[in-house]
Amino acid sequence: MKLIHPQETVRIIQENEFHFQKRFGQNFLIDENILKKIIDCSHITNEDFVLEIGPGIGTLTESLCNAASFVSCVEIDSKLIPILQNTLKDYSNVEIIQHDFLKLNIREFINNRSSGRPVKVVANLPYYITTPIIMSLLESKVKLTSVTIMVQQEVAQRICALPGSKDYGSLSLFIQYYTSPKIIASVPPTCFIPRPAVSSSILYLDFLTNPPVDVKNPDKLFSIIRASFSQRRKTLANALSANLRIPKNDILTTLQGLSLQKEIRGEDLSLYEFAVISDRLPDF
Ligand code: SAM
Repeated sequence: MKLIHPQETVRIIQENEFHFQKRFGQNFLIDENILKKIIDCSHITNEDFVLEIGPGIGTLTESLCNAASFVSCVEIDSKLIPILQNTLKDYSNVEIIQHDFLKLNIREFINNRSSGRPVKVVANLPYYITTPIIMSLLESKVKLTSVTIMVQQEVAQRICALPGSKDYGSLSLFIQYYTSPKIIASVPPTCFIPRPAVSSSILYLDFLTNPPVDVKNPDKLFSIIRASFSQRRKTLANALSANLRIPKNDILTTLQGLSLQKEIRGEDLSLYEFAVISDRLPDF
């Protein structure tokens, strides 16, 4: 079955009297080139355990099953479960689970299933929960090899942004601490049924074996990053003293020690500079 063909997707939807749920961000992929790009860039081999979030009617899942050792897919919409059981019936290496991904214990879920195989996550994500899903994967501290996801174009740009750009922020820094992110392709609304209001991008997150910077206390670093961007127009010194109650003098001395201007803002600092600042500031 080639679910990626628009007429096949429409047939399945009509035969099953399925109604798209806007609240679940249901935009099903119908473009074969984009599907190929997702599969190619995720470099899945027959040794991999793949977690798919939000399989829909199983369009991506089919290709993942052909490439991987095993695929676990987690779908929130109970109406899609019988459809998936049918579209994926020829595959013995897939497990279909009805659950809200954000309510799973991700660590337990993956570790119970991966049996030591490399773990890759692939998903065409519902836009309304893109950031919580990425953050929950990172915060689960599960050893992942890569995450290949379809996200809103604007989110992909924020994730890949570098210091000094308007898109640069705490999301860029968190993700760049754990992964090397790359935009693989931009995807217009015409590649989906129904068409979303915005353009999308395929984003590939290559997980780093070691963080790109050495920092004594990563939690402290993340608190500093979050506080720095909580009010973008504030200087770093004002943002940190207001949000974390760090004495302003300590911040100014630290900046001076790094030859950074006292008016500098978070958006101008690299991950490396944030790490040094975190190590030099007193604990709070
Ligand atoms: N993978 C399919 C495709 O590419 O055609 C469907 C992608 S669609 C953008 C997002 C899918 O995620 C939908 O099937 C939706 O029901 C599901 N979904 C939404 N919220 C979810 C959640 N919290 N947990 C698991 N699945 C969710």
